[in-house]
Amino acid sequence: MIIVSTLPELRRARARIIGSLGLVPTMGYLHRGHLSLLQAAREQNEHVAVSIFVNPTQFGADEDLEDYPRDIERDLAALEAEGVDLVWTPDNAEVYPRGYQTCVTVEQLTRGLEGARRPRHMRGVTTVVTKLLIAFTPERAYFGQKDAQQAYVVRRLVADLGLPVEVVVCPTIREPDGLALSSRNAYLNTEQRRAATVLFRALSAARAAFAKGQRDGDELRALMEDIVAAEPLAAPEYISVADLETLQELQQLPEQALASMAVRIGAAALIDNMVLGKA
Ligand code: AMP
Repeated sequence: MIIVSTLPELRRARARIIGSLGLVPTMGYLHRGHLSLLQAAREQNEHVAVSIFVNPTQFGADEDLEDYPRDIERDLAALEAEGVDLVWTPDNAEVYPRGYQTCVTVEQLTRGLEGARRPRHMRGVTTVVTKLLIAFTPERAYFGQKDAQQAYVVRRLVADLGLPVEVVVCPTIREPDGLALSSRNAYLNTEQRRAATVLFRALSAARAAFAKGQRDGDELRALMEDIVAAEPLAAPEYISVADLETLQELQQLPEQALASMAVRIGAAALIDNMVLGKA
């Protein structure tokens, strides 16, 4: 496994890779969710590359950039064990050189959900992902359904900029009790960890109601709000039932929709989603 930190080193290492390359962008502190993306990348490509970069531009001033969990030694050992070919671990100055002032913005799709909750977050994501796609020039890039808006926004930017890469969205990996794996779960104490199942419980209830024929967006949102409200440690930031293409809130649901939410539990802002009406 080749580990590089500067952009010229990355370019040289990339140039030596012959055959298809799958890229998995991450912020590190790897868990089974990340590893599932690696496994998909390995099945579909001859080589696999990973970036580990806690991207400062996607954190707000009042967010957890400093506290974000990191364990680079453990991450590198996990990537080595997974047979990864190339890892880029740049520092901030490598990604954002002195005087940096160029950003990539996806307009409509980034306005709601995480975009509304975290001003500038999506612009940080789209900018860094664009830079990663240019630097690695992979055949395919892998993203988790866990961060559905992020994945859909990346798909949009790749189409809009005509980047020669296939965006692959992989299913959310969960704990046995339904909690979606996330590096931020490390912030939860025992009580909070128990409360954190409320996202899965609320989304599952919406999915069950949809399966029974409920197509009223307000009813589905209210159903999820009631479940979250019944959990004293949980403070909802948004609860949404939105169109899968536009991510606009829906009143009357078509065949499919995205149910999603952000819920604060202690220091952790947790997000999760389910596609309603998926085959
Ligand atoms: P992060 O390191 O949190 O930025 O995540 C890196 C990638 O892993 C993103 O594409 C995430 O959507 C994906 N990911 C994070 N958690 C999960 C999960 N529980 N299941 C599947 N993919 C995930």
